[in-house]
Amino acid sequence: MTQATQSTTATFKALKCKECGTEYEPKATHVCEFCFGPLEVTYDYDALRRTVTRESIQKGPNSIWRYRPFLPVVTETPIDVGTGMTPLVKANRLARRLGIKNLYIKNDAVNMPTLSFKDRVVSVALTRAQELGFTTVSCASTGNLANSTAAIAAHAGLDCCVFIPADLEAGKVLGTLIYGPTVMAVQGNYDQVNRLCCEVANTQGWGFVNINLRPYYSEGSKTLGYEVAEQLGWQLPDHIVAPLASGSLFTKIYKGFQEFIKVGLVDEKSVRFSGAQAEGCSPIAQAYRDGRDFVTPVKPNTIAKSIAIGNPADGVYALEIAKKTNGSIESVNDAEIVDGIKLLAETEGIFTETAGGTTVAVLKKLVEAGKIDPSETTVVYITGNGLKTQEAVQGYIGEPLTIEAKLDSFERALERSRTLERLDWQQVLV
Ligand SMILES: [Zn+2]
Repeated sequence: MTQATQSTTATFKALKCKECGTEYEPKATHVCEFCFGPLEVTYDYDALRRTVTRESIQKGPNSIWRYRPFLPVVTETPIDVGTGMTPLVKANRLARRLGIKNLYIKNDAVNMPTLSFKDRVVSVALTRAQELGFTTVSCASTGNLANSTAAIAAHAGLDCCVFIPADLEAGKVLGTLIYGPTVMAVQGNYDQVNRLCCEVANTQGWGFVNINLRPYYSEGSKTLGYEVAEQLGWQLPDHIVAPLASGSLFTKIYKGFQEFIKVGLVDEKSVRFSGAQAEGCSPIAQAYRDGRDFVTPVKPNTIAKSIAIGNPADGVYALEIAKKTNGSIESVNDAEIVDGIKLLAETEGIFTETAGGTTVAVLKKLVEAGKIDPSETTVVYITGNGLKTQEAVQGYIGEPLTIEAKLDSFERALERSRTLERLDWQQVLV
């Protein structure tokens, strides 16, 4: 395996332990040898401040790679499959329903190529994997990551082997197999899959996007912060609400905002960070509720499988950010998650998966509890697509009216449906 050397155009410098500050060469490694703390990429912010402007970003590609100087790759030609620059939708109807004024949806349900935010982190991880000389890439996944790793590996011509829990939604399994990787369906939950993958990473010499490439991979999530700032007209929002699985996404949106402030691309502002978990897997929300500064692992049991991580790697950092930004962390039950999916679909025309349903349901809960001010500019992150988790809403969304191909059959059915609608309303009024 060849190790890529730093080019003069690279603005990232090293890997640094988040706990003790020890620095490492930017290779395929993710844990500090001294204190076992997680490693994070550091950058030359003075150089970034001198060379990057709003205009230079806007002249870049219409993808996450417009922010390339803030990402840990050397190459000028990263793997670009059109990932990122997803819509930031002004959600007026949902806002009105909830009783707030300035609500936006960052819609990664339509991210490319596999309809979740994971395409961001994988595009970065696989670009770096190629630079580090890997020919086989892998991941431990709750579903979306497997879709993304398999798809982008196929595009880049890398061999791919992914690991998923055996009980995943059919859409997520099919949406991985189609790209032709080796798929290992492990009899166990995500945390067990992850433990197995840590062993495989040590023996096979593969690039695991979320294990030995994790410091690079996780940096991809910063683009969810950059894009929102740019799409709001180079301003930061007042409040963001995002789902919490490992906690990484949450901490990287924060890092993205901080970096834009640091290099002068946006004005300094304190943004409140609120996190969403499913009650059946809510170790970070429980720690927040109990006022703890540590996270106790749990065994997941929820329909929100994509965020069902019982032992969240970045849980304590997410907790810290919610506290210091005067945000909040809440959990909702499975019925509320289904209602959240329906609410977003009916008000905004966006069909999200269970993670998005969790986030919308938590948004509603925070508004009702007075934890979001109605006038705050609030951005909600929708990270995945509902077509992948159809099981979650089956039985809760009505059925089509089957009719004969005749006008009178149609008219009878229409009359019947209107009567049913009236009955629905009467029930609501009672
Ligand atoms: Zn350390």
